[in-house]
This record gives sequence, structure tokens and C-alpha cells, in this order.
Amino acid sequence: MHDVTATGGMTRRKLLRMIGMTAGSAAMYQAMTSLGLAAESNFTGMPALGAAPKGATVLILGAGIAGMVAAYELRKAGYAVQVLEYNARAGGRNWTLRGGDSYTELGGETQHCAFDPGLYINPGPWRLPYHHRGILGYCKQLGVALEPFIQINYNSWLHSHRAFGGKPQRYRTVRADYHGHVGELLAKATSTGKLDTEVTREDQQKLLASLQWWGALDKDYRYRKSAEASDRRGFDREPGGGLSARPEFSKPLELGELLDSRLWQTLPLGDLYDMQQSLMQPVGGMGKIGEAFARELGSLIRYQSKVVEIHQDESGVRVNYEDTAAPGSRHEARADWCVCTIPLSILGQIPINVGQPMADAIAALPYASSVKIGLQFKRRFWEEDDRIFGGISYTDLPISTISYPSSGFHGNGKGVLLGAYVWGTEAMRFTAMTPAQRVAAALAQGEQIHPQYPAEFDNGVAVAWHRSPFTLGCFGLWTEALRAQHYDNLCRFDGRIVLAGEHASYLPAWQEGAVLSAHDAIDRLHRRATSKGAMA
Ligand SMILES: Cc1cc2nc3c(=O)[nH]c(=O)nc-3n(C[C@H](O)[C@H](O)[C@H](O)COP(=O)(O)OP(=O)(O)OC[C@H]3O[C@@H](n4cnc5c(N)ncnc54)[C@H](O)[C@@H]3O)c2cc1C
Repeated sequence: MHDVTATGGMTRRKLLRMIGMTAGSAAMYQAMTSLGLAAESNFTGMPALGAAPKGATVLILGAGIAGMVAAYELRKAGYAVQVLEYNARAGGRNWTLRGGDSYTELGGETQHCAFDPGLYINPGPWRLPYHHRGILGYCKQLGVALEPFIQINYNSWLHSHRAFGGKPQRYRTVRADYHGHVGELLAKATSTGKLDTEVTREDQQKLLASLQWWGALDKDYRYRKSAEASDRRGFDREPGGGLSARPEFSKPLELGELLDSRLWQTLPLGDLYDMQQSLMQPVGGMGKIGEAFARELGSLIRYQSKVVEIHQDESGVRVNYEDTAAPGSRHEARADWCVCTIPLSILGQIPINVGQPMADAIAALPYASSVKIGLQFKRRFWEEDDRIFGGISYTDLPISTISYPSSGFHGNGKGVLLGAYVWGTEAMRFTAMTPAQRVAAALAQGEQIHPQYPAEFDNGVAVAWHRSPFTLGCFGLWTEALRAQHYDNLCRFDGRIVLAGEHASYLPAWQEGAVLSAHDAIDRLHRRATSKGAMA
């Protein structure tokens, strides 16, 4: 694959760098996972492996989504399966933190989540695109109830600490004004003959009509304070009833000010294929998927089992692991085959006798850094005061994102929002802080968008993914060059071992990637075990 996008020869990396510089880290992440890297899931249906050879055994390392999908399907085919999992819970990055949960990160800091019953934060995955048919299919099979995840909210805030005196603007006003000004300029160019060589006269009339509607332009194709514009951007005084009914139209932001503010940067995020409505989330937290798989697999998963060595020979695979409840203890598990889903950031530190191509691939992939912070407040002031029901506010401050719960509207009790979703260098800065310092930083920055923060804050938790002992990072950060050199070697069987996980997919940073890589790996495993088909 070439490192070139359809945008006229610009390399993906250059484009990402540009997006990162102009639009900030949140937008870069969205683009990173979307620029052809996360094209439509190639899901073609659930696996139908057929019967396993009699007595065939498989060891699966890691009970994240990839490991549990592999275990679920291989068991169905008749393989004797055992899963070794480091944590005392299943799910891996599929994880929900609720009141009463504790989490100890690398460095030894333990956080005790003190959210009220029913409230939660998803430190990892939090949204499911409608076209991720693999992971959605398992939600259906396992009875995981889904509800809408609100990505775009026209009433959320867009904030730049450098623009409009630091005053946040509504998404709808920025969107309406950006479209309106662009529409007016294009209409002007059309009606003054500037597009004569590009567009036929007949099409110019159609273009003008479409711009008028698209940009909320008046009869003279101008974007100005008007009923049309206010119908998009909102009113200074809302239409009402009786004598106070007459609405007051609002005045658009000036074009220059709008361009300078760079608030337009986040407008297309909801247009990216992975972020288009409908998006979904499991009712009660993303962790419900991992929990459902764990219930289904029961005693197949051996928890608190830290794999410390993987060895294979012609007759099978031997894995040594430590029972983390009894540090220093050593146990051994054996099987005919091994599906290893341990993140490469950890696998690279575990002795494993695979050939050089796979070893080089394991060592080559860096992991993105990210920090997510959940904040509980005494009341849902974003709904009560700001009329924001779900969706996301964006800021150019390091916290980048404030996301409001997509459910529980009008709840009278406390509420939890995602108070920060930090990326890149800023994430490393946050990772170097203590959890309490991260929460304090999120509060100090978030207060610029929501002045209610200091009075309403209750408690918070902060997960820095590079300090997560079970992942050591957020997701595998492939580049086109790395893929060209290592991807196939990573995914190919090495003797009796095959790797699976989001890192072994073209949908990095998505659970769908974990599902599809597991499907692909077990299909090849089954072909090998039954000596059918190519030995990839
Ligand atoms: C911040 C963030 C946001 C994300 N947002 C989304 C989103 O909105 N939607 C979405 O679909 N995806 C999202 N993702 C991506 C998604 O979480 C992953 O793609 C997916 O969960 C990876 O599954 P996996 O099975 O490959 O890996 P993991 O979930 O990491 O599973 C690997 C397992 O191996 C275990 N393990 C590690 N070391 C050992 C060892 N030595 N011995 C035994 N076991 C071990 C781990 O404990 C873990 O259970 C996000 C991820 C992050 C971090």
C-alpha cells in the first residue's frame, strides 16, 4: 500500500501532522483511525470452523476481546481451550470503572473509584460505529443491550483559549456561520462569473439554489442576521408564546474572527466514517461486553495468570505463568496451538521462541499514549444550565474533549462526564502526574468551558494508558512504512503460534479490529490443525 491519500499526493503522515497542528490531538486521533486505516470492517459473517480434530488443544493468552472471541469460537468448534489472563477480570481494554472499583497503575498509585451507583467511566473504548458488524454481532449473541452514543450535539461547546476572549461558542453557531460564509463566498464567485470555465450556466443556477439552502443565505445570497441564519445558529431571543413571542435574530460571527479562531477544525469530526451516527454504547458501560464474554466462557479463563515465557517445539506449545495472587509462583500450561493476544508492548518483553521476522515485528510497533479522566459532579449542570444532553465539547486546551453522558437525562442525582481525553505529548505530560494531579489539571482547564466545575465537583479518576500494567499503551501506532515491513510477518503463523488483537488488524484502536483479527487467526489455525488450505 502506498503512503498516499486521495488528496493529491499528500502522504498520510504529512496529512496527520497537519491535522494535528491545526486541529489538535483529538482530531488527529479521529483522523488517524479513519484515514483508510479504519475502512469499513471486512466482516463477512461469524466463523463457521467445522469440527476440531479430536483432542486438539489451544492455549489463548489474554482475555481481551480478541482472546475471548477466539476462545468462544474455538470452543464452539470442539477445541479444548484454556485462556490465561493477567488481570482478575476479563475484557482487557474493554473496561468500565464504577463506584467501588480499584485500579493500581504502574508506579503503585491505587485509585478507588467513588462514583455513585449506576455512574461510570469507560477508560478505554466508549463507542461502537454502526458498521462494526463483528463486535455488534457479539453484543447481539451475548445479549448486551445497546443504546445510542451521541457523538454530535449542536448545543455543545467549541472552545479556543485564544479566540472570542476565551468564551466558548456553540457548535451550531460555528457550523452555521462557517457554512453561511463559505456559501456566500461561493455564491459570489458563481454570480460574478468566476466559475464560468468550471461550471455550466445551467449548473450555476442549481449551484446557487443549493448554496442558498445549504448556507442559509437570503434572497440576495448573503449570509447575515436573518430568520434563515437564526434557524441554524439560534436566536438572541427564542421564539415564545403570547406577548413575549417575537424572536430576536442573532448576528453571525465575523468571517475573519471565525477563521482565526480555528473552531471550524472540529466540525467535520462527525463526518468521519467511524464517527458517523448511528454510534452505540452498551447500556451500563462498555465493560458489559467483556463481562458477558466472561460469563459465557466461565472457567475456561484462568485469571491473575501472568504469562512470563512462551516456548514451542514440533509437538506443542508450553507457556509459563505466574499466579499474581502468589507472587513468585510458577505454573505451566501446554497445548497443541497458541493464540497470543497480549499487546506487543508487553509481549516484546516476554521470552518467546519465534523466528526473526515475527520477533522483529513484535519489537517494531510503538503504542499511542492517551489519558482519560472521569469526573463526578454533584448535579448534571451541563443539562440543567447549558441544555447539553450528550455529545462532546472540544477545546484546544490539553484536555481536548469533554463528553457528556448519552443516557440518564434529567437525572436528579450526581453525574459523571469524561473530563479529558488527552493525546500525544500532552498525554505523556499527564501520565507523568499523579492521578490526583491529573484530575486537578482537568478541573482547572475544564472550568474555562464550564465555570460550574469548582462548586459542583465531587470526585474523579484518571487512567493513563502508558501506566496500565496490562497494556503499557493505548493502541498499536502503525505507519504505512511499518505495515509494509512488518504487518504480514506479525500476522503469519510462526510454527504453532499465531498472534491476534487490534495490533494485528487494519482497524487499529477499535474493538472490531480485535474481533476480525481473532476470526482470521482461528480460521488459519483450524486449517492448520485439520491440514486444510494454505499454511499462512
Ligand atoms: C483510550 C482508548 C479508547 C478507545 N476507544 C475505542 C472505541 O471507542 N471503540 C472501540 O471499538 N475501540 C476503542 N478502543 C480500542 C479497543 O479498546 C481495542 O482495540 C480492543 O479492546 C483491543 O482488544 P485486544 O483483545 O486486542 O487487546 P486487550 O484488550 O488489550 O487484551 C489483551 C489482554 O491481554 C492481557 N495480558 C497482558 N499481558 C499479559 C500477560 N503477561 N499474561 C496474560 N495476559 C496478559 C491483558 O490483561 C488483556 O486482558 C480504544 C482503546 C483505548 C485505550
